[in-house]
Amino acid sequence: MIRVSLTLLVFIYLGLFLTLVLGHWAWFEWQRQRRERLAVRNRLRCALCAFEFEDATADELPRCPRCGSLNERDRFRML
Ligand SMILES: [Zn+2]
Repeated sequence: MIRVSLTLLVFIYLGLFLTLVLGHWAWFEWQRQRRERLAVRNRLRCALCAFEFEDATADELPRCPRCGSLNERDRFRML
C-alpha cells in the first residue's frame, strides 16, 4: 500500500483538476479560433467603398458587387 499524506493528496487532486480545466479551455479556444478562421476565409473588404462581401471563386482580383472595383485578396482581419 502506498502511503500518501493528506497534503500531497490534495495537491495531486488540485493538479489533476487544473490540468483537466486548462485542457478543456485550450481545446474549446482552439475550436473557436478555427471556426472563426473558417467563417472569414472568403470574406473580403473593398478597398474603395469598404463594402464587405464573400467571394469563394479563385479569381486573383475579385470584383466588388457594390462599386465594381477590383480588389486584392488580403487577409480579412477581425477587430
Ligand atoms: Zn466596393
